[in-house]
Amino acid sequence: MIRKIAAHYALIDGQLRRNIVVSVDHNRQITSIDEHTSLDNVAGVEFYPGILMPGMVNLHCHLELSYLRGAIEQNSGFAGFARAIGSVRNNYTDEERIHAASVADSTMWEEGIEAVLDIANDDLVMRVKERSHIEYMTLFEVFGLTTPNIDSHNNLASKWAMSSVTPHSTYSLQDGVFRAATNQNNSTLSIHMLESTDEVELYHHNGSLWQWYERMGWECDFLNYKTPAQRIVESVASDKRTVLVHGCQATANDLAILNKHFTTPVTWALCPESNRYISNSKPPVELLRSTNSRIAIGTDSLASARHLSMVGNMLLLGDVPLNELLTWATLNGAMAMGLDSRLGSIEVGKAPGLVILEKADLHNMRLTEESQTRRIV
Ligand SMILES: [Zn+2]
Repeated sequence: MIRKIAAHYALIDGQLRRNIVVSVDHNRQITSIDEHTSLDNVAGVEFYPGILMPGMVNLHCHLELSYLRGAIEQNSGFAGFARAIGSVRNNYTDEERIHAASVADSTMWEEGIEAVLDIANDDLVMRVKERSHIEYMTLFEVFGLTTPNIDSHNNLASKWAMSSVTPHSTYSLQDGVFRAATNQNNSTLSIHMLESTDEVELYHHNGSLWQWYERMGWECDFLNYKTPAQRIVESVASDKRTVLVHGCQATANDLAILNKHFTTPVTWALCPESNRYISNSKPPVELLRSTNSRIAIGTDSLASARHLSMVGNMLLLGDVPLNELLTWATLNGAMAMGLDSRLGSIEVGKAPGLVILEKADLHNMRLTEESQTRRIV
């Protein structure tokens, strides 16, 4: 059976258009997109108030940390957050962790998330992801200055479908291990990047990361790269699909270095709720827009966010035209994951899922605090 679906507006080719009817078959595949002069006389249409959009892509999540919802104080700062997560991590049973992941997964699906690029340190919640309607790509994250190699991560990735290995960041891995972790066949990399000034300062031998490493007696064999961006371009192949997460401290110079190197453009996964939660910082939205950088949206984890809501994150990205914001939440994330032939936009032949964005201000085309998304296909 074919369902015909319409709303006040539909996101088509990056634009918000009126009087569009989208037909979708029992396999969730879009069979036609028809533009009418008015929807008044079109028979058999399900009409929804709001904006019809494709299923969303959450480009940065740590589903396994869902059990830490509310466990870590807001505004504890970058180093404080890392310490806090270490101290509360062992207070929960496996059952509690799996249950929390399962609840978070269901909520994301109902709110219209179609695919997630998910970071993992172990495989405890992999079964939740396997059973989910959401399409997960799991990246086992290599972390720690004393981590000698990526063998255990490769083992995990070979055990589970739709998984691979990625380096955590440019400040938490020695040179050889970082390079090994970036050298993955045909998968997307996701690297936490320039979340705080501590990362930048480390390369100048100061700041809280530098002091912490000194106290622990850990040496870094990668500070010769001078900056995180320079380390990325000297370590990652130019055609690698690469997601850089956060970017709060990125400068025009960093972007110039990265853009010159990458032939496949990097995607910035912005997680404004997490930035707000940890340190009241903000992603560099206007800098990225003014340099035509590719932007997508992630929720990060419930350890550093009140929710895994894409709309909640969009609301924190400032005064960006709504069609652009919705494209970041959908097509740009799908492109970053290499899923755009099937997901991310309302196009005939794709099966992106369909979502209604409710309670937006349709006169000024802005989100409101009441805005929410709901899956309809
Ligand atoms: Zn993260």
